[in-house]
Amino acid sequence: MSKQQADGHSYGFETRAIHAGQPPDPSTGSVIVPIYQTSTYVQEGVGITKGYEYSRTGNPTRAALEECIASLEGGKHGLAFASGMAAITTLLLQLKPGDHVVMADDVYGGTYRLLDRVMSQYGIEYTLTDMTRIENVERSIRPETRMLWVETPTNPLMKVIDIAALAPLADAHDVLLVVDNTFASPYLQRPLEFGAHVVVHSATKYLGGHSDLVLGLIVTSNELVRGRLAFHQNAAGTVPGPMDCYLTLRGMKTLALRMREHSANAQKVAGFLDGHPKVERVFYPGLPSSPGYEIAARQMTLPGGMLSFEIKGGRDAALKFVSCTRLFALAESLGGVESLIEHPGAMTHASLAGSDIEISSSLVRLSVGIESGNDLLADLEQAFEQV
Ligand SMILES: *Cc1c(COP(=O)(O)O)cnc(C)c1O
Repeated sequence: MSKQQADGHSYGFETRAIHAGQPPDPSTGSVIVPIYQTSTYVQEGVGITKGYEYSRTGNPTRAALEECIASLEGGKHGLAFASGMAAITTLLLQLKPGDHVVMADDVYGGTYRLLDRVMSQYGIEYTLTDMTRIENVERSIRPETRMLWVETPTNPLMKVIDIAALAPLADAHDVLLVVDNTFASPYLQRPLEFGAHVVVHSATKYLGGHSDLVLGLIVTSNELVRGRLAFHQNAAGTVPGPMDCYLTLRGMKTLALRMREHSANAQKVAGFLDGHPKVERVFYPGLPSSPGYEIAARQMTLPGGMLSFEIKGGRDAALKFVSCTRLFALAESLGGVESLIEHPGAMTHASLAGSDIEISSSLVRLSVGIESGNDLLADLEQAFEQV
């Protein structure tokens, strides 16, 4: 393998994050993949191209990103989309009326909304269940089931689902095991290695990592799934622009470093919250008392940067607390270098209000950034003093 082709699996994760799919530009030697800001490509004769015809169908900046994420997830094929939801929508376009999906009961609110309010209009059915218990999943599978949809750790309760335990079940029933790997990122967890068939990402979060883009990614080694996805990506036009592909590639180069810092800071914050007199419960897979601790230790390199906790004093205390932090910015989203705080019941998960999976109003979610850990603890403490 040449020095420039670091996409082989023999190279370490950090090396592939920087080089996979990104050899120096052959025409100029540019070390960084150029932003091919073009919609179309000249043809030498009818149908004689250099592999690109029109940027909805293919774009070199996007192709580099697709190759890089495939390498990081240990899969054969990557596909990039305009957002995480565009990726999820494109994946669900494979379903036909009458088909059925089994999903985790604290699945990302946007995914739930898409199934509940949009896909249901096309005859797609779903069952929500607590996927931490395999027997629940087994009971939810019907002859029409086509996908098991897993998020782990889940949002916002940080439940850990055992991918390796679900894989044989998916195979036995001939259904696709899909894992939304947004919360972990491929540095912490590679679902394909545990038998998942498809991995989905909101690259808007950790992969981009700097809160400056919206983008989605899918990785699979299944040729049939890849073919259908590529067809729908082009047919429905759910593609990202080259600028966002470039920003995602740039972010991914430091993914390993950032994830180690996110995780170290989150572990510190979880330890601080656990046992704090104003905290009822902490949800973080890195706490030995957490129900997901053992599976997380097996399935993840590190427990990650996301955690949530129930504050004493209910909804009022939670709403007050999230408005009192100074470093933790009150905002939706997650996975950027800066720390964020939010109230899932009133913000990210508001669309679940009144449903069976409504979120407790005393829950606060943190996306722990990579600032100085002690500054983050001090910020939380001064906010506790105000509630
Ligand atoms: C944010 C998010 C999505 C949706 O991604 P967008 O890029 O916002 O469209 C899907 N799944 C999870 C777990 C997310 O956090």
